[in-house]
Amino acid sequence: DTHSNGDSKSSVKLPNIKFTKLFINGEFVDSISGKTFETIDPRTEEVIANIAEGDKDDIDLAVKAARAAFDHGPWPRMSGSERGRIMMKFVNLVEENIEELALLDAIDAGKVLTYGKARDIPFGASVLRYYAGAADKIHGKTLKMSNQLQGYTLHEPIGVVGHIIPWNFPAGMFFFKVSPAMAAGCTMVVKPAEQSPLSALYCANLAKLAGVPDGVINVVTGFGPTAGAAISSHMDIDCVSFTGSSEVGRLVMQAAAMSNLKSVSLELGGKSPLIVFDDVDVDSVVNLALLGGFANKGEFCVCSSRIFVQEGIYDEFVTKFVKNAKNITVGDPFDPSTRQGPQVDRAQYEKVLSYIEHGKRQGATLVTGGKPSGDKGLYIEPTIFTNVTDDMLIATDEIFGPVISLFKFKTIEEAIERANSTRYGLAAGIATNNLNIANTVSRSLRAGIVWINCYLAFDADGPYGGYKLSGFGREFGMEGLYKYLQVKSVVTPLHNS
Ligand code: ADP
Repeated sequence: DTHSNGDSKSSVKLPNIKFTKLFINGEFVDSISGKTFETIDPRTEEVIANIAEGDKDDIDLAVKAARAAFDHGPWPRMSGSERGRIMMKFVNLVEENIEELALLDAIDAGKVLTYGKARDIPFGASVLRYYAGAADKIHGKTLKMSNQLQGYTLHEPIGVVGHIIPWNFPAGMFFFKVSPAMAAGCTMVVKPAEQSPLSALYCANLAKLAGVPDGVINVVTGFGPTAGAAISSHMDIDCVSFTGSSEVGRLVMQAAAMSNLKSVSLELGGKSPLIVFDDVDVDSVVNLALLGGFANKGEFCVCSSRIFVQEGIYDEFVTKFVKNAKNITVGDPFDPSTRQGPQVDRAQYEKVLSYIEHGKRQGATLVTGGKPSGDKGLYIEPTIFTNVTDDMLIATDEIFGPVISLFKFKTIEEAIERANSTRYGLAAGIATNNLNIANTVSRSLRAGIVWINCYLAFDADGPYGGYKLSGFGREFGMEGLYKYLQVKSVVTPLHNS
């Protein structure tokens, strides 16, 4: 790979860190314990800032604020259009602050700044805008029922929501979670990942400036087993929405079950296949596969980490794919020439490198990459394996790094079966110009989103979520809103007199 060291450092604009405290009931406050934790810059492993470390007591305080805002505050009582109007002000502020938010995610999570500005933050804003528009379009049904009865359904906000979010799309994920819950009229407590707390706190301040009432959005920064677990086991939270690993997803669901049976939605890991058929233009699909496999340094739950290529074009595909992967510029996320930044923290970095070692030890062929990139920071070369068997760890486990396995297949049936032989079921891609193949395969894949001749094609209007160990519940679209609503049937007798 080519490595950029960010030598243009003097010209690089770094973000100003303004918000480091918990955001509870409309105010930035220290944690009750007074403890803080360090958030680290993965380019250098230096400390960016000390962040208030919330724990169970702080979650309690935030839930009290959210509960009061739900039970007595204006938010759930406003008309949908009033909520939508405030949410639109919020969107405008986000759009005025795209650069600042992208800068925060770049330093906190190693995300490439140009992509943050062009894609992540604008997409987050588009999700907020979508749900701002949905806020006044929530309605139930009229029920004819039996002869002597009639009824209707009311869609009510579910109550206080806990959002537990990961570090791979810190600002984006904040909007994916908060926006539909706001539209529904819920109040909420957000726990950002400990690796990347900065942009959520910045967003909380924008919400306040937009006029979102106090207590509607609370942000408690802190660790998973303490602050996170305090959300999933809380007796006064009505719904928990979690995005992260399948292991932690299980813990969240277990804690929800053992506490108050709060409703749960889980957006978890993936091991998504991209299936490339013989009839395609190899050069353009190579580019699609590079995007799908290496976007966000592989720290993307929908990454096409298993690429199945039909035998007729396999050799040509491998040659071109490897050549282009070697040209990916890995380096400082603030450098405009960079396409791949550092892994988010040392634990993830070491986990990815250990999977690479596993792949080599189990006999897969390392065709490019496989080692750290540059001499400091948490950078890893784009890595490709061939001769991978379906049962090797690198083929079965979510690696969450820039590591792709290439497989050769013969028939459509074989491709479907092997693509589906995974514990996960989040996303899948198909590259073909044959409509019959596209239709057959898309219906046969057990995944929540199937991209035909595209990849990572997300839209605020397109629901997405998991099958199998990738979780349940959907994000985006009107489906993404329903999990924050309760349906109440109201029934009354019909009298003829
Ligand atoms: P990763 O392993 O990729 O870091 P996690 O699933 O551990 O992803 O983290 C996603 C989010 O879940 C983070 O906000 C993290 O703090 C939180 N978390 C981790 N452990 C727990 C837990 N036991 N209960 C609730 N939340 C948790």
